Amino acid sequence: MQKVIAIDGPSGAGKSTVAKMVAAQMQAVYIDTGAMFRIVGLFFHKENIEFVENDLLKQGLARLESCFEYAPDPKRLVVVNGEDWSQEIREHHVSDLASRVSKLPLVRTFLLDFQRSLVQEKMAVMEGRDIGTVVFPEAFCKIFLTASPEVRAERRVAELKARGDDLADYGSILQDIKERDDRDSSRDTAPLKKADDAVAVDTSALNIDEVVGVICKEARARYAHIN
Ligand code: C5P
Repeated sequence: MQKVIAIDGPSGAGKSTVAKMVAAQMQAVYIDTGAMFRIVGLFFHKENIEFVENDLLKQGLARLESCFEYAPDPKRLVVVNGEDWSQEIREHHVSDLASRVSKLPLVRTFLLDFQRSLVQEKMAVMEGRDIGTVVFPEAFCKIFLTASPEVRAERRVAELKARGDDLADYGSILQDIKERDDRDSSRDTAPLKKADDAVAVDTSALNIDEVVGVICKEARARYAHIN
């Protein structure tokens, strides 16, 4: 068994907020794998590297590896040339870059090794799309968080508005979410899907504390079982 609580699910299901709270309650390290795909997508974009598997992309990954630092603290995600990308990777256009780059097996393999290396002695809460299926198939607790696309789009609009983006438009965000879901679920490598042994939690009609409560209860019960 791996000391990991895997939280997978589509974008906007509430994974980040929930995973951070679960990590705090379980005294575990919080690891956001989506942020890593965002960094790779943004890096390739800035370096004008095409999203195709070729030598240029391989060289780009090698360059990124030498200047890439991930601290399991969302406020300190740093790319070492001195720039802190923690805010920039959250911009709307970067979601699309991340989703496109995440289809590339070279990128997934690069990040897979890195993600595994982050889990040491301490329990970790890792959120993503393929944590329970590919990254940590032996995780002691697996959760698959869902919510309807409409609820997820409403949440995203509220989040962008809270950040001062008054142009956030529900219709186009809903369409983006559906397109990303399609792309994430239909790719050949590590598609978004529920692990057979994951517990599905639909967050559409639950508040955050309720969701966190359900997950921590499940995690504690399972942890007691393996110890
Ligand atoms: O979770 P977040 O929205 O930050 O992830 C951005 C994109 O990165 C997702 O749409 C998905 O395409 C990709 N991703 C992935 N596998 C993960 C985490 C994220 O493919 N484990």
